[in-house]
Amino acid sequence: MAQPFVTRFAPSPTGYLHRGHAYSALTAFEAAKAASGRFLLRLEDIDATRCRPEYEAALLEDIAWLGLTWETPVRRQSDHLADYDAALQRLRDAGLAYRCFKTRKEIAEAAQSAPHGLPVPYTSAPLPAAEEAERLAAGQAFAWRLSLAAARQHLGGFDITFTESGETRPADPTAAGDIVLARKDVGVAYHLAVVVDDALQGVTHVIRGRDLYEATPVQRLLQTLLALPAPTYRHHPLLVGPDGRRYAKRDHAQTLREIRGSGVTAEDLRRELGFT
Ligand code: GLU
Repeated sequence: MAQPFVTRFAPSPTGYLHRGHAYSALTAFEAAKAASGRFLLRLEDIDATRCRPEYEAALLEDIAWLGLTWETPVRRQSDHLADYDAALQRLRDAGLAYRCFKTRKEIAEAAQSAPHGLPVPYTSAPLPAAEEAERLAAGQAFAWRLSLAAARQHLGGFDITFTESGETRPADPTAAGDIVLARKDVGVAYHLAVVVDDALQGVTHVIRGRDLYEATPVQRLLQTLLALPAPTYRHHPLLVGPDGRRYAKRDHAQTLREIRGSGVTAEDLRRELGFT
C-alpha cells in the first residue's frame, strides 16, 4: 500500500501574500498532487495583534486564483486554543516548562552584553517559589518557556534527528534556547501550535521555505517530548527577486493582488515560478 502523504500550507494572515508565498503554496500543493496525497490549508492566526480578517479573506482568494484547492474545514488556530493549552499543560506536568517574567527588552539587552558580542540563546530556570508567588500576586506578566535543561534531563540527552528530503540529520535544539511556549497576550506561541496541529491534522510531510529550517530541531524536540509522530521535512529554497534578495512582506514585495491587478494570469505566474 502507498504511504500516506499529507502536506499543508500554513500562512499567517498578517499581510497580503507575495510571490514567495505563491511559490511555497504551489510547491506543497504540487507535491501532494504528484504523490496522490492530501493538501491542507491552515491559518496560523494566533497573534491577534498582527492578524486581520481582511488578510485572511485575501489569502483564500489569492490561492484559489492560483488554482489551489484544499480540504475543508480549514483549521484556524485561534479556534483551537484549548488544544494548545492541553499540550502546554502536559509539558508543565512533566516539569519541562517554567514561567519567565523577563520582558523582551531585558532579554535583548542580556543577549547584547555577552562578552563575545554574539547573541546568546536565552536560557534560564524557574524563579524561587516565593519570588514567583510574589510576582504573580502583583499581576506581573510572564511567558511560559520550555526548559532546555529539563528537557535534556527528561530525555537523557538530545539524541534527536529529522528527515530532510530523505536524508537523516541531527536535530540539535540548543541554538534556539528556552523557547517561548505561550505568552500572556498570545496564549500559545508558534512552535507549540505547529507541532500540535501537524500531529492533529495527520501531516506526514512538512514542505515549507528554507527560512523555517532552524525551526525544525525545536519542533522535533517538542514532538519528542509530547510523543507526537515525526513528519518528513522538505525546506525549499527561498525565491529571490531581481535584486537577489528574498521576497518579504516588510520589503513591500509586490503582492499577488497587485500582480493579478496588473493583468498577469495565474497561468503566467505559475509558469514564471517554474510550475506548468
Ligand atoms: N505560519 C508560518 C509562516 O507563515 C509557517 C509555519 C510552517 O510552515 O511551519 O511563516
